[in-house]
Amino acid sequence: MIVLEAEECGLGPSGRNGGFVHGYWSHLPRLHERFGEKGALAVTRAGDRIIPGIRDFCEHHEAEVWLREGGMLRVSAAPAQDAAVEGEVEAAREFGVPDEAVLLEGEALAERIRSPRFRKGAFMRDGATVQPARLVRALRRAVLACAPVHEHSRVTTIDDGRVETARGRVRARDVVVATNAAAAGWKPLSRRLTVFGSYVVLTEPVPELLEQIGWTGGEAVFDGRMFLHYFRTTNDGRVLMGSGSGPIGYGGRLDSRFTKDAATGARAERGLRRLLPGLADARVTHSWGGPIDVSSDHLPFFGTVPGTRIHYGAGYSGHGVGPSWLGGQILARLAQGVDDELTRLPLVTRRVPKLPPEPLRRLGGGLVRASIMACEEAEEEGRRPSLPARAGAALPRLLRMSVGTR
Ligand SMILES: Cc1cc2nc3c(=O)[nH]c(=O)nc-3n(C[C@H](O)[C@H](O)[C@H](O)COP(=O)(O)OP(=O)(O)OC[C@H]3O[C@@H](n4cnc5c(N)ncnc54)[C@H](O)[C@@H]3O)c2cc1C
Repeated sequence: MIVLEAEECGLGPSGRNGGFVHGYWSHLPRLHERFGEKGALAVTRAGDRIIPGIRDFCEHHEAEVWLREGGMLRVSAAPAQDAAVEGEVEAAREFGVPDEAVLLEGEALAERIRSPRFRKGAFMRDGATVQPARLVRALRRAVLACAPVHEHSRVTTIDDGRVETARGRVRARDVVVATNAAAAGWKPLSRRLTVFGSYVVLTEPVPELLEQIGWTGGEAVFDGRMFLHYFRTTNDGRVLMGSGSGPIGYGGRLDSRFTKDAATGARAERGLRRLLPGLADARVTHSWGGPIDVSSDHLPFFGTVPGTRIHYGAGYSGHGVGPSWLGGQILARLAQGVDDELTRLPLVTRRVPKLPPEPLRRLGGGLVRASIMACEEAEEEGRRPSLPARAGAALPRLLRMSVGTR
């Protein structure tokens, strides 16, 4: 095996994400809608291997990645978000697994985290956090111990059995393409992926403020928005707040809007101040962002380009830290020609709906994004969203498309 990496392993989103790790119980309503009951359960059960898999990796390689298994909490921060939380709980109940999403209200919710903004929550045991840069460095070390890794070797051409970089070419029976958002510019996947930006802010260490709001259990929290806020604590007592509301891309172009968009960083900070007023005195010390590879149904997909041995995995849609572990298992099987329960998952076998071509995708996606964001802002402020915003936000439902980071 040879790894070709355009920059340095970990400079991509894997080294700078929010560090939420989970499988698929928190996607149960969407999985059910897309894959039916049997398919949804197969994916959620496969996802149950993710956290133990990462835990085993860390133990085996003595990697200290700040893995904290504190579960995941979805909170509603406006009346319009209640349905998202209730939907998680209802889906788990319908599937006969009520412990996978437990409704928390009043004191039970405040025991996890106290905020005057939170109305209700769904607690999911399937959730953990890591320090992503530590994890990615440990992964890099583990790969270097068993295979050549060529960094600063951007692949420019992919053919069956051969890939080229500016500095040379590699022949290989099987080629695996796992380039995240960059895959949106690769012809075989270009109609199935679009790119959004996701941004985070990080506070100074504030362990005493976390004590005051009772947020000491390490829960990974996200809200009921479509362009969601995601927030967590770190082992050194900081709070990370992310916003999945970054700019939408054009084709596969990965420009500076995905790393230098001050407006989305500011939205993440506004989310911090609004959602957690108890942290008003916490100074923000860092802010950064990156691109996410969003598929048309917000679920990842894996496969092989027809008639070739070129395998691909993409579409993690902003939720790839844990799922890329599962993706690695699937891609290894595809390359080795293994046919088993993982390669038969709907993540591999389904037809991924195509996205509209450019420039329609960017224009339509941009309109819908702006409309949904305007609605979500208004709903949080207790205002009725304007008619144009409501009309724009309704488009994806009418066209049966998914937009947002949820
Ligand atoms: C700010 C932010 C916060 C996020 N938070 C979370 C979170 O909390 N939880 C979660 O689950 N997900 C989160 N995500 C998404 C998550 O980071 C990704 O889904 C995940 O890291 C994808 O892993 P990957 O290995 O597919 O991609 P990457 O880590 O991006 O790796 C792909 C690699 O391919 C390389 N590459 C690209 N093109 C080429 C080429 N032509 N030749 C050679 N190499 C190439 C890149 O340099 C890169 O190193 C977040 C993303 C961002 C940006």
